[in-house]
Amino acid sequence: MIQDIEPHRFDNAFRSTEPQQDDRMMVFAGRTMLVHLLDEAGTFEFPTYGHTEPALPHPAVCVYAFSIDDEKYFVSLGEGGDAPAGLAYVPLETFRMATRKHMGHAAQTGWHLHRWYTRSKHCGACGSEMRHTVEERAMECPVCGNRYYPPISPAVIVAVTDGDKLLMTRYSRGAYRLRALVAGFCEIGETAEQTVAREVLEETGLRVKNIRYYKSQPWGYAGDLLLGYVCDLDGSPEVSLDDAELASAEWVPRDEIVEEDDGASLTREMIARFKNGLL
Ligand SMILES: [Zn+2]
Repeated sequence: MIQDIEPHRFDNAFRSTEPQQDDRMMVFAGRTMLVHLLDEAGTFEFPTYGHTEPALPHPAVCVYAFSIDDEKYFVSLGEGGDAPAGLAYVPLETFRMATRKHMGHAAQTGWHLHRWYTRSKHCGACGSEMRHTVEERAMECPVCGNRYYPPISPAVIVAVTDGDKLLMTRYSRGAYRLRALVAGFCEIGETAEQTVAREVLEETGLRVKNIRYYKSQPWGYAGDLLLGYVCDLDGSPEVSLDDAELASAEWVPRDEIVEEDDGASLTREMIARFKNGLL
């Protein structure tokens, strides 16, 4: 999955520090990100602070995000300006399937932080301008003292199985048009297991049992923490579709599944593992 970047090491412990010339910078403009182009074939890496300085807003606000191996990564707040020579903006989606996976994980985590910081300029309680705290990754209101932390939205991805068949779906909204699994956000006051049962019932009319946790995945492109679950059909296999959420939901026999693990998403890993008899 996208966060599995071994042999690289991801360290998200907070540090209050300023960027140096050779530190990596993550600069965004809309849903694009500034990269340093290395060759004509489109190979790129994250630019250094020194290289991106002309593109940073004035005054620049750069916040330490994380380290990968011994390199520090910073997020520039606000919109990036014109790309300096040798640099270019590429769509965030480019990173989702980046062959060098640590770049994909860096981009999604940087984007998650960037979105939160740029939407957290003012206190939600009193409207005062907030400031960055130095001892932890948080924003604090200097007037009423409220502290705000990066929001992470938990959501479940559910593999509903009936013997050798897997319930596969297509979403009716959003850009993702490939086959997927039932998915949905945890609501206030429920456990993740209750979310699983509720989402499956709401979206497909099916009841499930034997709900088992599989794995989780940070999905910073949407600010989510995805929780993968497997469960068995309980009762009738007849689907009653919620067509506001899903374009289709169908039982697919194991040997008719064509999807492979894409190395990035939890959904695809779960589908591929079921296909191979491993889920
Ligand atoms: Zn306040």
